Amino acid sequence: MSVDVIKTDAVIIGAGPVGLFAVFELGLLDVKAHVIDILDRAGGQCAELYPEKPIYDIPAVPVVTGQQLTDQLMEQIEPFGAEFHFNERVDSIEKIEGGFRLVTDYGTPFECKVVVIAAGGGSFTPKRPPLPAIEDYEDTSVFYSVRKMEAFKDKDVLIVGGGDSALDWTLNLQPVAKSLTLVHRRSEFRAAPASVQKMMDLVDSGNISFKLGQVTTLHGDDGQLTGVTVKSPDGSTFEQPTEVMLPFFGLTMKLGPVANWGLNLEENLIPVDTEKFETSEKGIFAIGDINTYPGKLKLILSGFHEGALMAQAVHRIVFPDKKLIFQYTTSSSNLQKKLGVK
Ligand code: FAD
Repeated sequence: MSVDVIKTDAVIIGAGPVGLFAVFELGLLDVKAHVIDILDRAGGQCAELYPEKPIYDIPAVPVVTGQQLTDQLMEQIEPFGAEFHFNERVDSIEKIEGGFRLVTDYGTPFECKVVVIAAGGGSFTPKRPPLPAIEDYEDTSVFYSVRKMEAFKDKDVLIVGGGDSALDWTLNLQPVAKSLTLVHRRSEFRAAPASVQKMMDLVDSGNISFKLGQVTTLHGDDGQLTGVTVKSPDGSTFEQPTEVMLPFFGLTMKLGPVANWGLNLEENLIPVDTEKFETSEKGIFAIGDINTYPGKLKLILSGFHEGALMAQAVHRIVFPDKKLIFQYTTSSSNLQKKLGVK
């Protein structure tokens, strides 16, 4: 099956704070963007590693948590209607006539005039549970993320873990799955209390089952899971039949495919100039934690500055015949119109 190519001015790789603000800076200059992230939501490190920690060094914002910063950036960029592609990792970038072609691990092809790499410390990658031969079942019966809920319709689903992802997917997949069982090694959860309560209500009403224990062995053939062995806290074991298993054991950051894009990496970082934040490849820019230059500080505010200068350079590529006039949002009615100011 061939997938339609998504054509746009700019593809931003990474929906961390810096990728999000890049949407704003590009949007002010009429550059349309699509944003791709391997995570299932925006925010990068802020949302994934420290959503509730206060940040104190965002200019004019005395204190904001990682999640609040993400939410406020999403609100700020809303007028520009950037399209987000979550749960997809950009695997390849290829030069083509007039720009670049990118393909994700999901097979989605993009064609664009410029690429903005805002990939931070690399792609967040799910931690694989240490189960013998688990790789034989990956992508057929074992999944680390949910791309389409439809894929789990009328299936016996086993979710393993006790954090927000495990609980969120338990609640979301319960109405879709034929049966749903949650397995966690302890009766305490590291998830939002409201989600834990909803999960327990579903257990009480008999709509899902919850089992204490750890999965120790997978059973099945040809990548098709038929069940798992679970070890209870008292040392006894039991068999749990299932067709699919979704383990949510947290994420680690790995550089991932960025290493293969031929951008002369220095210690896993992409060297850029400090005028345009362009890489060694014309038309490919790198901003935020992923780049390096003399004096670089891995701070959110540095990434915001880099995004502003990058956007000026991108404008020259996307609109070679248009003169760029420098304007303030305070005084330009043109910019205010783009922002939806009435
Ligand atoms: P990230 O936030 O890392 O986002 C990059 C995104 O790109 C990720 O979501 C990743 O999944 C995605 N990605 C990568 N590769 C691919 C690919 N191939 N395909 C698809 N998606 C991909 N900074 C401050 O300024 N002030 C602070 O107080 C502060 N406190 C911090 C506290 C902690 C505990 C940590 C860990 C960091 C803190 N930082 C702070 C640093 C700050 O979070 C980073 O500088 C910032 O997140 C960098 O933003 P980014 O958008 O460049 O990258």
